[in-house]
Amino acid sequence: MNSIIEMKNVSYRYPVSDDWIIKNASLTIEKGKFTAIIGNNGSGKTTLCNIIRGFIPHFYKGELEGEVIVDGKNIVDYQLGQLGEKIGYVFQNPFIQVSGVKDTVFDEVAYGLENLGVEVNEIIDRVNEILKLVKIEHLRDKHPMGLSGGQRQRVALASIIVMNPDILVIDEPTSQLDPIGTEHVFDIIRLMKEKGKTIILVEHKMDLIAEYADDLIVLNEGEIVLQGPTREVFADPRYGEYNIQYPHVTEVALNLQKNGVKLNYVPIRDEELPES
Ligand code: ADP
Repeated sequence: MNSIIEMKNVSYRYPVSDDWIIKNASLTIEKGKFTAIIGNNGSGKTTLCNIIRGFIPHFYKGELEGEVIVDGKNIVDYQLGQLGEKIGYVFQNPFIQVSGVKDTVFDEVAYGLENLGVEVNEIIDRVNEILKLVKIEHLRDKHPMGLSGGQRQRVALASIIVMNPDILVIDEPTSQLDPIGTEHVFDIIRLMKEKGKTIILVEHKMDLIAEYADDLIVLNEGEIVLQGPTREVFADPRYGEYNIQYPHVTEVALNLQKNGVKLNYVPIRDEELPES
């Protein structure tokens, strides 16, 4: 197993809060895998992402216990900027991410590369490639402030992908998107995975998670209560205890069972699947 992120007994509380928001969390995220973080509102998903990307403790101070290892090194031994190059973070709210200091979508997506001092021709090539990939070429010359929420979400995604980080942490990227836009974002994430990126995604749309995510981490009131391969976690009877939505197919199967239909449903482990 080739882990890229490891947490060992991590607990965290915000500066002016009495409550521990993350409680004794241990996890392993494997390199090149797509891991989804799920849980009810307020369960600590965004806080966990902020710990993974080093924003906690580098920016939010508070009290952090335990160890967070990113690519073999403790996060406290990184500069925040170094972590920023390794881990791209797409905010839940695209209105925060899109800077608004640039007049066109092209310049907005190019902004991070300019700051790194990348050579102009390379910037042009990389930005054009990403605008095409994210299917926003038609927005190239538009003002970022004139875009819809869904369009901004794609611009936010493009401006992070263009930086070519090894790890992408994406907090509810589809909250502003219609079903087609949502499928499209998942297609982009799949492409990123094919390029060898490690994906960590906070998302509520369980059908898409069931289809795309390799692994799941389930948070409940700040505790990691379940983690493992997606289909094993969804099939785990304990999943039902946390009042979190199931994928639609699982919901149907459970309702059939409740109504007396006998299903021979057993969790399938990866190693039991036929070679495809
Ligand atoms: P989720 O992403 O699962 O909705 P969050 O990580 O956003 O959960 O929040 C978890 C808990 O931490 C909530 O009770 C929230 O009020 C609290 N919290 C989030 N941000 C802060 C902050 N900056 N200061 C104090 N408490 C916070």
